[in-house]
Amino acid sequence: MFEDKNQEKTSLEELGEFGLIDHLTGNFKLHHKSTVKGIGDDAAVLDFADRKVLVSTDLLIEGIHFDLSYTPLQHLGYKAVMVNLSDIYAMNARATQITVSVAVSNRFPLEALEEFYSGISLACELYKIDLVGGDTTSSTTGMIISITAIGEAAKEDLVYRSGAKPNDLLVVSGDLGGAYMGLQVLKREKEVFKVNPNNQPDLTAYSYIIERQLKPEARKDIVELLMNLGIHPTSMIDISDGLSSEILHLCKNSNVGCNLYEDKIPLDPTVISACEEFNIDSSLVALSGGEDYELLFTIDQKKFPELKGNPNFTVVGHITEKNEGAHLISRNNSKIPLTAQGWNSFAKA
Ligand code: ADP
Ligand code: MG
Repeated sequence: MFEDKNQEKTSLEELGEFGLIDHLTGNFKLHHKSTVKGIGDDAAVLDFADRKVLVSTDLLIEGIHFDLSYTPLQHLGYKAVMVNLSDIYAMNARATQITVSVAVSNRFPLEALEEFYSGISLACELYKIDLVGGDTTSSTTGMIISITAIGEAAKEDLVYRSGAKPNDLLVVSGDLGGAYMGLQVLKREKEVFKVNPNNQPDLTAYSYIIERQLKPEARKDIVELLMNLGIHPTSMIDISDGLSSEILHLCKNSNVGCNLYEDKIPLDPTVISACEEFNIDSSLVALSGGEDYELLFTIDQKKFPELKGNPNFTVVGHITEKNEGAHLISRNNSKIPLTAQGWNSFAKA
């Protein structure tokens, strides 16, 4: 990481646009019979018979969403796919296809795009996704990535943000705050590197949180697990912006309030120790940090026995009537209104 690898570089002009697309996408395999025609014509053709079709898009801009000085391109490709798949899984659906559009400056060597596509390829292999198209163009202002994910579900399996009911339990998968703390470590190391480029950092102690930042996993497994447990969430959303703002989305869309218990928020021990080191409150990191790509959902109380004791899930609170508002019940038992910018408002409280 951080070093400038001085390997051979092939300029993009050498290949030409069509050669480039063939070169980058030639080795992708197709997995789904819903893919009638993938890359190679004017448009892809998909056939979902009687299933509902889901479409979700994200745009990632260098300097805003990612920093190439500490993001290996392979990880960036992988993460860009994960961010999109996560939105499909958050509907309780199966992700099946993606399109990938990229713009890079012509100073970008072929080898860099190969690395980027190797991350996309790994994601497609592991998550059984068909790459069915995209666009390739040049940019004067850094790298731009747009991925569209397509998925499918039976109508009755779909879960929206709008179905939470009072007394439902509020549940999260996995643990929170790791991606944000991983980013803090990477930013700090970048500053250290600027001062002394020969100082290669030892980041082993932070490997979990750095991986959470650089190589997140979309929770396909959770959607499958819920299906196997016979749990149909009443509402669901993926945690891309921090627990606090996602809970508020569920509450707003479902017309309900909630109580979230600070002492229930799942934190990995590495997150807690990194927070101590950086002198940041770990609850605030989980509430406002973002990029964890875990799932937040609500279930009917009657379904509690089905997930009780399952290490993949943590019940963090419950849904209330709308007029009770959305609150965090803090460790010292005070009731604090949840806000999307949990950070500042908690500092005041
Ligand atoms: P058009 O001129 O119609 O936009 P292109 O030459 O851009 O067609 O694309 C040719 C084929 O390659 C299409 O199937 C398109 O979806 C696919 N494609 C182009 N760029 C990419 C990319 N970056 N990743 C994956 N597929 C791509
Ligand atoms: Mg095109």
